[in-house]
Amino acid sequence: MGYSLESLENFFCGIGEQKFRAKQLLSWIHKKGITNFNLMTDFNKELRIKLQSLAIIKPPKIFKEFISEEGTKKFLIELESGSMVEMVIIPEKNRKTLCISSQAGCALQCTFCATGAQGFKQDLKSDEIIGQLWLANFHNKEINQITNVVFMGMGEPLLNYDAVLESAKIMKDPHSYGLSRKRITISTSGIVPNILKLSQDIDVSLAISLHASDDILRDEIVPINKKYPIKALLDACKEYLSSFKNKKTITMEYILIDGINDSIEHAKQLAILLSDISCKINLIPFNNFKGTTYKRPSNNKMSIFKKYLMDKGFIATLRITRGDSVAAACGQLVGDLSNTVKGKNLIKHRLINER
Ligand code: SAH
Ligand code: SF4
Repeated sequence: MGYSLESLENFFCGIGEQKFRAKQLLSWIHKKGITNFNLMTDFNKELRIKLQSLAIIKPPKIFKEFISEEGTKKFLIELESGSMVEMVIIPEKNRKTLCISSQAGCALQCTFCATGAQGFKQDLKSDEIIGQLWLANFHNKEINQITNVVFMGMGEPLLNYDAVLESAKIMKDPHSYGLSRKRITISTSGIVPNILKLSQDIDVSLAISLHASDDILRDEIVPINKKYPIKALLDACKEYLSSFKNKKTITMEYILIDGINDSIEHAKQLAILLSDISCKINLIPFNNFKGTTYKRPSNNKMSIFKKYLMDKGFIATLRITRGDSVAAACGQLVGDLSNTVKGKNLIKHRLINER
């Protein structure tokens, strides 16, 4: 499941078969949703038996599925190791976005993030990453037909580089999901060397979790900033942009946290920092979770922040978070689940499908 076209071609050559089988297999798994070699009718019997003896195609398991009032679906996915990660389907008017995880937990410990609070457990393998898209599309009769994928679930994608790259290649491949570069977004807290590497390896959309406009504050709320400070990060963004021939824009994510980074002074500093970078700014209202002392600013305060940036000529979006009722922001369900396991039964959300 986790092999890109190139890897599958190597696999088939390695077992003495022809290269074109790779395209056929990609299409069976990722276009038609078939994981049983016996049903792959353009493979002769001999090849089907050979594949069965050599390989297994196994998506991860859906442990639980939750639905919110607005139709956002959230899934707890169980990995082979037993660790849980989350994925979310967000239906909108003209698209269906899937938010996927790249690691169980995260080592980077951003202070506003429920995943960070859980610490790092493990990297996902490429099959466990692409398996989330496979599940979203094929796990039940109701075809979800995901149109956009964002790596904004649990974990730091650029710290699980190879598996994320392999899965993004499968997402783009016309023999499988065929998603265009604009429909796949990798979000990073700013792993500078891998931002530059990414521009050499694949053309997808990039989002940067900036969240602060000076190093003192960013050191505190996004601690990886101590290693890769704002200037190094923004220089990497400029180099990233200049390495593509096509016109590209980076999305700058900025969580608004009451009394921490939401003043007009912060907006001014942000506008200066981003003045020479082709970007749009995605303002995200802080999403509350158990154990945090942070709060979401008032709607009025958030609108003023946004208006300042728009008056300065930026494209800035501010969306009231969808899926609040299933604790949508990253890592919250898994956090809730471990509390449940401790006997506190914190999952109050409507459970529609328990397996
Ligand atoms: N590690 C990567 C990708 C996963 S986190 C990164 O940091 O970019 C993706 C996004 O989740 C972050 O940018 C942040 O915007 C969002 N997020 C995390 N905790 C949140 C919270 N409590 N409220 C709102 N958004 C949150
Ligand atoms: Fe990790 Fe991203 Fe959460 Fe920071 S915001 S702790 S980098 S998942």
